[in-house]
Amino acid sequence: MDQSVVVGLDNGGNCNNATVLDASGRFLVDRLCETSSRVQQGPEVAVEALVEALEHVLELTGVAATSVRAVGLDTPGPASAEGVISSKGATNFSQPAWRGFDIRGALEARLGLPVVYHNDANAAALYAHHVHFGAEAARRSSVSAIVGTGLGGGVIEAGQVVRGAAGMAGELGHVHIPMHGLLAEGQPLPRCNCGFAGDAESIASLTGIANNLLPFWLTRFDGHELGRVGSVQEAAKLVRGYGERGDPLALRIFEQQAMALGRLFTIAANFTDPNAYFLGGGVVEATPRFREWFLAKVREHTALREEQVRVATFALVPDLDMAGARGVAIAALGTLQA
Ligand SMILES: [Zn+2]
Repeated sequence: MDQSVVVGLDNGGNCNNATVLDASGRFLVDRLCETSSRVQQGPEVAVEALVEALEHVLELTGVAATSVRAVGLDTPGPASAEGVISSKGATNFSQPAWRGFDIRGALEARLGLPVVYHNDANAAALYAHHVHFGAEAARRSSVSAIVGTGLGGGVIEAGQVVRGAAGMAGELGHVHIPMHGLLAEGQPLPRCNCGFAGDAESIASLTGIANNLLPFWLTRFDGHELGRVGSVQEAAKLVRGYGERGDPLALRIFEQQAMALGRLFTIAANFTDPNAYFLGGGVVEATPRFREWFLAKVREHTALREEQVRVATFALVPDLDMAGARGVAIAALGTLQA
């Protein structure tokens, strides 16, 4: 029997999650396997923390280090397609030593093994694609939108992540979307942290709720409880819970988000005409009734042609907390089979 495996490492602000994938495509870990990521202590410490995460998951699965053929790594962005952290820094990589740091190259040198890199949204998109299409994955295309603090995305064509010339493909959050009929009367044009106004993330993200949607809708629901929460950031995190309980203000916010996502998918439909549209993020963890309502709303606002309706599917990104590690493990296995 072939003992070859690959390891997937998902690097986050607090934790690294690790997984092991064998040559037959079977994951040997069925839950989160987390160790501290120590990214706040700078790149050198963080690279050692990634090595510990790898050693820990091998110990847990009883796999020998000599069986590992390649490693997949994902981190939050912004970073280049080759795993170089943005020269302007990034939310999770605030220490100056991180600026322009080649985390993929550093881990590869430390391990003496090939390391394949994707940003976390692309990794999750790749995982969703492979879970959904299985053996057909290499012949299918998909687009994923992952709604979190920001709006991450990934475009998969023929089973592969589309990286783009500068490594910036799939930045769905910063695609401008039409606002006509989306904004309510008197609602200001929403602004994104990237400097754009009226892009998808300015609405469909937690930041969009805090900066744009909630402040506006509180003016239309005078005396709403959410207006008495300490800060708008705190209040924004509570909106989903209110939505699950059918609160009218929260539902207006989620309807605007669903409309923005539907319009984003409409643009995707005319660019790559994918087989599947995947939706991920906090909403996946919501109650089944609420997430089905939200997915149906997104679908309702995606304008597909008749021919597209017949072949396209809409689905949620599964196992979201494990999707990053699993996605890069799939990418690493793919490089061995290529
Ligand atoms: Zn933006």
